[in-house]
Amino acid sequence: MFCPFCSEQETKVIDSRLVSQGHQVRRRRECMVCHERFTTFESAELVMPRVIKRDGSREPFNEDKLRAGLQRALEKRPVSTEKIEQCILQLKSTLRATGEREVGSELLGNLIMSALKELDKVAYVRFASVYRSFEDIKEFGEEIAKLGD
Ligand SMILES: [Zn+2]
Repeated sequence: MFCPFCSEQETKVIDSRLVSQGHQVRRRRECMVCHERFTTFESAELVMPRVIKRDGSREPFNEDKLRAGLQRALEKRPVSTEKIEQCILQLKSTLRATGEREVGSELLGNLIMSALKELDKVAYVRFASVYRSFEDIKEFGEEIAKLGD
């Protein structure tokens, strides 16, 4: 690939290792011309199921949207970026493992909620309050009550 500093095409890999529990390869590269070093990440691109929204319309799975949602819920919480990325990879592999070509937005929402529950309880409540909106206030109240420990 092109060097991001001088756009030269000749770069060499100086280090390569598995990260994100083996879901990604991290490579350190060095430009043969300007000798600047940079990092690339490589991961398999697999087909994700499409998401069926509540109104019945379909939309492609959007990783950026998922990341933005998680980051919003985790704002100012003591959770590292690495943890968030792991969570995204985990969610994606769970979705692929369904083997479905389309999944309901409820399933996706529930997966995100259980992932957040593990990650950070405050973020979980934040996400749940937005995601569930006013649908089942009672259940949501019970969930909050359970967090009292
Ligand atoms: Zn260069």
